[in-house]
Amino acid sequence: IERTLSIIKPDATNRNLTGKINAKFEDAGLRIVAQKRIHLTPAQAGQFYEVHKERPFYGELCEFMASAPVVVQVLEGEGAIAKNREVMGATNPAQADEGTIRADFALSVGENSVHGSDAPETAAQEIAYFFSGLELV
Ligand code: ATP
Ligand code: MG
Repeated sequence: IERTLSIIKPDATNRNLTGKINAKFEDAGLRIVAQKRIHLTPAQAGQFYEVHKERPFYGELCEFMASAPVVVQVLEGEGAIAKNREVMGATNPAQADEGTIRADFALSVGENSVHGSDAPETAAQEIAYFFSGLELV
């Protein structure tokens, strides 16, 4: 059984959408096995998004992710990484399929409500970045 890291981003926590987003995960068969609300510093956001540091939107992205609390969570299920990305929808909400989180809730390509790991290696790294072994059962 697979696990993936999910983040409910500041645009969504600001609009009190955590429960509605979690309902979409659960309806898709993903189980929320760990979850906490944290407020990242810009440096922590920068470290998390290090892979994007050469991209033109990196500064804006880190500032946004540190602008308000986020909810970090571990989702578990068969093919959880791909399933989560399906439920999230395309990065740009204008291109996201109907019924996806980003189609329903995202404000823009930057303020797009959720993050999800993109591969088994990044999922393992990202889960370990936010959760200790004791927090994962
Ligand atoms: P995520 O990694 O957050 O799950 P993703 O894999 O769909 O989303 P990436 O290409 O990895 O998208 O980009 C990471 C994040 O950077 C996006 O979710 C979005 O918040 C932001 N981002 C991506 N492209 C742009 C852009 N052109 N302008 C502003 N922000 C962007
Ligand atoms: Mg990505």
